[in-house]
Amino acid sequence: MILPIKIFPDDVLRRPTEPVVFPLSKDLQKLTKDMIETVRAADGIGLAAPQVGRSVKLIIVNLEKSGVPLMALYNPKIVGKGFKKTEIEEGCLSIPQVFGMVKRPQKVTIEAQNAEGKIVKFIDEGWVSRVAQHEIDHINGRLIIDLIKKYTQGEDLVKGWRKQKLI
Ligand SMILES: [Zn+2]
Repeated sequence: MILPIKIFPDDVLRRPTEPVVFPLSKDLQKLTKDMIETVRAADGIGLAAPQVGRSVKLIIVNLEKSGVPLMALYNPKIVGKGFKKTEIEEGCLSIPQVFGMVKRPQKVTIEAQNAEGKIVKFIDEGWVSRVAQHEIDHINGRLIIDLIKKYTQGEDLVKGWRKQKLI
């Protein structure tokens, strides 16, 4: 089932998230399936549970088009960061029409659990690193509009939100 994507300034995007417990409940199995369907339908490269209105620590990384198998990561966190930072343009399915340059560590070590609850730990310095950092920010209530210093699109929208104290 394709789920509606929550759009900023929806409160759920800022709400704290609960850790996922194993074995996965039927509800969370279904949520995972639905989030995969939703991110594919939206042609997105990543999706975090708060973006579909659920305050749990679950993210999807969808880089299938770049040949990377789709990943559902439970309780993901960054446990290591490289020194080098890169600045890349990012957008967000929850903040349509806003794009800007976001500086992040290029290389990160990510630790998460898979659907069986097994701990997975890996290092990446490509798109998985970038997308995972963006999605992990989501489960911590952080959005690209908190990070962008230079907008490439939608700066007026952001200025309006600032005026309304939404950021
Ligand atoms: Zn996003």
